Amino acid sequence: MTSTGTQKYAFFQGKIVPYELAKVGVLTHGLNYGTGVFEGIRGYWNPDKEDLFLLLAREHYVRFLKNTRMIFIDVPYTADELVEYTAELCRMHRFREDVYIRPLAYKSSESIGVSMQGIADDTAIVVTPFGNYVDMDRGLAVCVSSWKRSDDNAIPGRAKITGNYVNSALAKNEAILNGYDEAIVLNQLGYVSEASAANIFLVRDGVLVTPSVADGILEGYTRNAVMMLARDELGVRCVERSVGRSELYTADEIFLCGTGVQVAPITSVDRRRVGTGEVGPISSSLQSMYFDVARARNPKYSSWLTPVQMPSRVAEASAM
Ligand code: PMP
Repeated sequence: MTSTGTQKYAFFQGKIVPYELAKVGVLTHGLNYGTGVFEGIRGYWNPDKEDLFLLLAREHYVRFLKNTRMIFIDVPYTADELVEYTAELCRMHRFREDVYIRPLAYKSSESIGVSMQGIADDTAIVVTPFGNYVDMDRGLAVCVSSWKRSDDNAIPGRAKITGNYVNSALAKNEAILNGYDEAIVLNQLGYVSEASAANIFLVRDGVLVTPSVADGILEGYTRNAVMMLARDELGVRCVERSVGRSELYTADEIFLCGTGVQVAPITSVDRRRVGTGEVGPISSSLQSMYFDVARARNPKYSSWLTPVQMPSRVAEASAM
């Protein structure tokens, strides 16, 4: 994920400031010990409606607030307030393109020692223009990682703790170095958990199968969305259960889903073809439905979206 450097403002220490003022010192607890919690939210630009739509923004902030409790970080804002700060940041930038939003709450005191007692907290939000995180024009070639998912009793994956993303970084980097697009990470028991930053679904005999919430996964909102669309729009049943590694080699279809990857079909695992080796019908239907919903082209799911109410060019010009 690269920043394009076009962000001019950030929410930092309780207010929106110029981005260059949103800086921390090198002794910051969160930077040294990974004591932070973050989120990733997307905003999709709809040129017909001339507005930017935040996808499942409130849900992401509800998860964020729950997760900060896990590592004793106090965020003095409600989910609704955080959505509003985010929308305001988008409006201030006048972004007329897809964006990625990065909320971050972290232990902000500059001190030595891992205890979290008496350590101050801060919350920041940055918005940046963002396209696809993985290549969407073809199926992905993935591998099973040699790195295992961190255990729920070590660093809980569901908490989206910054320090835990060393696990994701090791897996993703190994995959790239070895010529793959992405890594599938097994949990400590050897069952499939998820990809480096995305959940995974398999299609087996017309049924969707995805690792259960006790398999070391982050309980993704895209995962929920996919399960709802599969059930309500395609009439496809979904089973949440532990998934064995060898099921990856025999599945009819496999795809990843998450805010970053969106819905991304996989066409090979460890150099073994998935199904026919082409993107399968359930994966491609779910992918196109997901994009329709995200881009505000399916009114049935408009409750998943927050319009930022971008000032129109006409309104801007007449205000000058
Ligand atoms: N798993 C991990 C490890 C992730 O980092 C993400 C991205 N947040 C996901 C799954 C997908 O979650 P979501 O659909 O809520 O973005």
